[in-house]
Parts: sequence; C-alpha cells; structure tokens
Amino acid sequence: MSPTEHDLRAFVDEIELEMGEDGPPTGNGKVEAAVREILLEIGEDPDRPGLAGTPERVHRMYAELTAGYRVDPERLLNGAIFKVDYSEMVVVRDIPFYSLCEHHLLPFFGTAAVAYIPRGRVIGLSKIPRIVEMYARRLQIQERLTQQIADFLQGRLEPQGVGVVIEATHLCTVMRGIRKPGTIMTTSSVLGIFRSRDKTRAEFLAHLERRPPGPA
Ligand SMILES: [Zn+2]
Repeated sequence: MSPTEHDLRAFVDEIELEMGEDGPPTGNGKVEAAVREILLEIGEDPDRPGLAGTPERVHRMYAELTAGYRVDPERLLNGAIFKVDYSEMVVVRDIPFYSLCEHHLLPFFGTAAVAYIPRGRVIGLSKIPRIVEMYARRLQIQERLTQQIADFLQGRLEPQGVGVVIEATHLCTVMRGIRKPGTIMTTSSVLGIFRSRDKTRAEFLAHLERRPPGPA
C-alpha cells in the first residue's frame, strides 16, 4: 500500500469510529430493491451474473459515500482545540476530497485549502482534513460544502477569520450535458478578517499560488 492509500484506510477506519453507535444504516432491502428497479428500467437484466451483487454493493457504497451525515462533530474534534498565543495565519492546503453532487448523484472531487487566524485557540492540524471529509461525504453542491467548512471552523474556534477555497471537477459536467473535460470550478468562502481586510485575503491567496515543496 502506498502511504496515501494507508492514510485513506486509517481515515476511513477513524471516520467509522466517529459515526458512533448508529453506524451505517442497517439494511431493510429498500435501496437494493430501488437499484434493481433502475437496472430493469435501463433495459438491463439484474439477474445476470455481473449484476447479481450490484444492488447490495451500491447500497454499501452509498452508506460509505454519505457517512458524513452520521459523523458526530464532538467525537471528530475529540478535544483537539488548544489554547495558544499565536496569531499568524494557519494554512492547510491540497486536502483531497470526494463528494457527490446532489443534482445528479455523480462525484465531484478536487482539493480544499483551509486557513484561519487564531484568536487564542488552534485546532489539531489533522482535524482539518477530517472536517472537510465530514461535509464532503454527503450529497452536496460545491458552494455549500465550502460554506459549511468555513462556518464550522468559525463557530467552533471563534478565530479572527477563516478562508476556504475549493477547486473541483464535476463528473456531471465532464461526462454528460455540456461535456467540458478539464473544467474546474472554484468556490471560496471568507469570514471575519479574511472578508474585511484585503491584505489578509491577499496573503491567503498568495499561499495558494505557492507550489508545494519537493522535486520540480
Ligand atoms: Zn451535478
């Protein structure tokens, strides 16, 4: 396993812990029955060998891809907010995410950059990708995903301000309709000092333009 795959596995394990007692929805067969109906409607034979297990797999897949609804924010934070005397910008960028567009139930995916300026409190760095994940693993539109991440941090940390920028490719744009491969949508949400102070916003955007360290 590559380090990234390992991280992802660890993350999925942890997010499942954070789902708490409820866990994934227990099967009542309704999703399976609905997927079977879809297969019939598109002219397929749901009983052929390749499709026989598909309704159950789709059910499990949706449970996983929408696990964010069942994450308990308190468990996710797990006390990882610390008092510090630090008031410079904290930036976490290139956070990969996968979400589902609520209009088509097709994936959209890309990267998020999250920044804030503390007011006496910081959050454990590993928590920021988890917050992104909690909101990404739901049916979403990119604008709301961006806003929810910003609002969550603003509400929990009460920092001087928050900035979130998300860049994503939407399969519903690439695969169907206007078919524009390579189209990337950018959304941003700026709160507090990131909204009121041009210099702060410019500093944040400059961080995003910088290439990550490593071989060129
Ligand atoms: Zn869509």
